Amino acid sequence: MRNIYFDHAATTPLCEEAFNKMKPYFTQIFGNANSQHAFGREAVKAVDEARDAIAGFINCRPNELYFTSGGTESDNWALRGLAHAYAEKGKHLIISPIEHAAMLSTAKALEKEGFTVDFMKVDADGFVDLENLKSIIRPDTTFIGCMMANNEVGTIEPIKEIAKIAHASGAICFTDAVQAAGVLKIDVKDLGVDMMSMSSHKIYGPKGVGALYIRNGLKIDSIITGGHQERMKRGGTTNVAGVVGFAEAFRIAERDREKNFEYVSMLRDRFIDRVMAEVPFVKLNGPYKKDRLPANADFSFRFIEGESILFSLDLAGIAVSSGSACSSGSLEPSHVLLALGLPEGLAHGSIRFSFGKHNTVEEVDYAVEVLKQAVNRLREMSPLFKTEGEIKNV
Ligand SMILES: *Cc1c(COP(=O)(O)O)cnc(C)c1O
Repeated sequence: MRNIYFDHAATTPLCEEAFNKMKPYFTQIFGNANSQHAFGREAVKAVDEARDAIAGFINCRPNELYFTSGGTESDNWALRGLAHAYAEKGKHLIISPIEHAAMLSTAKALEKEGFTVDFMKVDADGFVDLENLKSIIRPDTTFIGCMMANNEVGTIEPIKEIAKIAHASGAICFTDAVQAAGVLKIDVKDLGVDMMSMSSHKIYGPKGVGALYIRNGLKIDSIITGGHQERMKRGGTTNVAGVVGFAEAFRIAERDREKNFEYVSMLRDRFIDRVMAEVPFVKLNGPYKKDRLPANADFSFRFIEGESILFSLDLAGIAVSSGSACSSGSLEPSHVLLALGLPEGLAHGSIRFSFGKHNTVEEVDYAVEVLKQAVNRLREMSPLFKTEGEIKNV
């Protein structure tokens, strides 16, 4: 059986370089970065180097970068911490409807505390409607948050414009760059964002580590209170090996960014073009190639459930995701696809393929063949297809 991994938006394998760089920090350089002795100083040195490196990649000062346990914590911290810190100024928050569950669930929790959350409008490809955004901002809006690139359909959002609109109204601008970091060139000063989330394991780094950029001068409440770590803003003994691996993975991603972008885009385009040409009744979700993450291809297949396709591909050794890994497992249609205006049937029948730098053209071609067979077989068993299958393509 084949063993093909097309789920890089869910997680990536740790790269050799990061793995090797991390190794000494488990057994030899194991000090607590808060300790006042040589072991501690060695650990601090490694953490400082990692912080300097990542700050350089996104063009912020090292003291504007805070290490966390990953993208979920960074998202939680940005939204909850900012909302609380500025609650006296206002309790109105705006986010996009296609955010990661880490944002949506936090927004829900804040609503229970008395905050009001409004959602930006997105168009059929997932792009934020900037005019609509301007119209929903209120004098008491403190937080405007939109992801830089969507994890499910790959849409790359106009963050610079969103930041300008936020600042014109006195709100702060946050972006979740978990899918974008290491893939797109990111300069937080040029973008004008005030806070930005990142995660290591989406860019060939270790799991359980991430970062939040917080512009100097911004007020933010802590959500993890404890010791004096991360300049007293985020308690918890620093994951030294983790941040070392994160920085090294980020370095490799930056070093190879253009090469990987081109290569992975080529795989994606080949896959998208073949599927659209060879599979009937299929809809590409998200924009066609331009302003789309190079790794992402997401399709809805009419008359069948995404999950059934996922299982058929899994049987053939191909790993993909239905909807986003975070909402699959529930029987709800994807909130992202519903926000894009897809009818429920299509929002149920979606599959995300996310490619990586180790994938090959041969794997892509094999997957197209397996997919074609799986879709045909499932449709033959589908009563819906029998009655409606004659109707025009979607
Ligand atoms: C994966 C992901 C997260 C969560 O990051 P973790 O490090 O897995 O907690 C947040 N936002 C987006 C867009 C993601 O893709």
